[in-house]
Amino acid sequence: MGAQRTLPACSKRFLGGRWGEPAQGTYYDNENPAKRETICRVAQASAAEVDAAVRCAQQALEPGSAWAQMTPAARARLLWRVAERIREQVEELAWLESLDTGKPYGEALHGDIPHAAGAFEYYAGWCSKLAGSVLPVSPRYLDYTRLEPVGVVGAIIPWNFPLQMAAIKVAPALAAGNAVLLKPAEQTPLTAFALARIFEELEFPPGVLSVLPGFGETGAAMVAHPGIDKITFTGSTAVGKIIMRGAADTLKRVSLELGGKSPNIVFADADLKRAVRGATTGIYYNQGQMCTAGSRILVQDSLYDKFLEAFTAAIADLRPGDPLDPKTRMGALVSQEQFDRVSHYVALGQEDGATLLAGGQGSADSGYFFPPTIFTDVQPTHRIAQEEIFGPVVSILRFGNEEEALRLANGVSYGLAAGVWTADVGRAHRIAHGLRAGTVWVNTYNALWNEAPFGGYKQSGIGREGGREGIEPYTEVKNICLSL
Ligand code: ADP
Repeated sequence: MGAQRTLPACSKRFLGGRWGEPAQGTYYDNENPAKRETICRVAQASAAEVDAAVRCAQQALEPGSAWAQMTPAARARLLWRVAERIREQVEELAWLESLDTGKPYGEALHGDIPHAAGAFEYYAGWCSKLAGSVLPVSPRYLDYTRLEPVGVVGAIIPWNFPLQMAAIKVAPALAAGNAVLLKPAEQTPLTAFALARIFEELEFPPGVLSVLPGFGETGAAMVAHPGIDKITFTGSTAVGKIIMRGAADTLKRVSLELGGKSPNIVFADADLKRAVRGATTGIYYNQGQMCTAGSRILVQDSLYDKFLEAFTAAIADLRPGDPLDPKTRMGALVSQEQFDRVSHYVALGQEDGATLLAGGQGSADSGYFFPPTIFTDVQPTHRIAQEEIFGPVVSILRFGNEEEALRLANGVSYGLAAGVWTADVGRAHRIAHGLRAGTVWVNTYNALWNEAPFGGYKQSGIGREGGREGIEPYTEVKNICLSL
């Protein structure tokens, strides 16, 4: 990490292909959560700027424009070059991400940033493969479909994997020929600015991507704007519901990636060492601030004591430390708000009668640090077993047989992901089929691929990201029927 690092132009916003000061001059301080120091002042985009960005995006989509006229192959080459630029800057981008979020530099370097580049590479390949079909309706007609862009896409993203979340929305949206307004989370705008810088360097047509930093009001202005055709959102279930209601007025298309309360189900015949490792990273990676966090570990009775001993031992060397130190495996929580939320849930767990076995006490003196926390004696009805905490807090529950495991696993309002640990292949599939979750991992956890669809059942969301399923929602299907 010796190379010189530079901050992007935080006091500006990227709109219509140009960097500009915000019209109303509203700024806020962006904090480094591992030090509680201000990194930079960030320009907040107003509703008027959302409106200006929508007009630029609409111009970019006009039939004669450079973007609309570009061949799919040329679009693919441009998106591929975005990936190349991300990979060339991987260290700088990982540094920005770590500084902004408090996540370990090594995780950003080997996880977030390459994954973001991979999204542009994967969807670059789709530009020329979004084919419609010719339908055998009648000998006297030619009937075919075209997959056209939806239009102007508003992408609203969270703070836990900022560049990765931007990429998994911007890449398929642009591959399908849309234009995007990207609103990063107020806590973590840095890599969105860096992405805008890449788009500027590569001379994308103006208006194809605008980056509008700001708080919830900026996002709400996007949801309300009649010129935005689709909102793609990742964040809390509470805000997802607000967005869905807001989108109803203009009947926008919505894709929602929301919260989770994912179970990691460990059967007695599991490989204990692997299960413990998977369950540990399943909940403590990114300080537990993941929608896929394996925040409930369900262990079969006969393995329970052994599992608990091994799991408790495994967290001994997971001590929160300086995120920029390449050796750190656990960094800081993203904000005071998040620190307070996690502390609040620890108090709720104790109030409900669960046993606090490890951790539970953070320190916010010079950074929002919270240790790995374990609760046992958790009842399925406890709030810590039902609600998303979004922090390094796990509830360990026990079960007797497959039926009980499934009942516990499915007994929450979420359905994002789940893990199953067993040596019995038949059982692995039985449980996988019985789980009401968008992703099931067997003898692994958090294995996420740009090539595979990811998304939620129940209150974990609507739609999928990744794979073919991740680009189709950015298209409108047009049917054309011609009399021969
Ligand atoms: P978290 O609780 O993890 O911070 P949120 O769901 O609050 O997640 O935020 C995710 C994203 O949604 C952020 O970019 C945030 O600014 C944005 N946001 C928050 N409130 C609204 C809203 N009412 N309308 C649109 N976007 C919003």
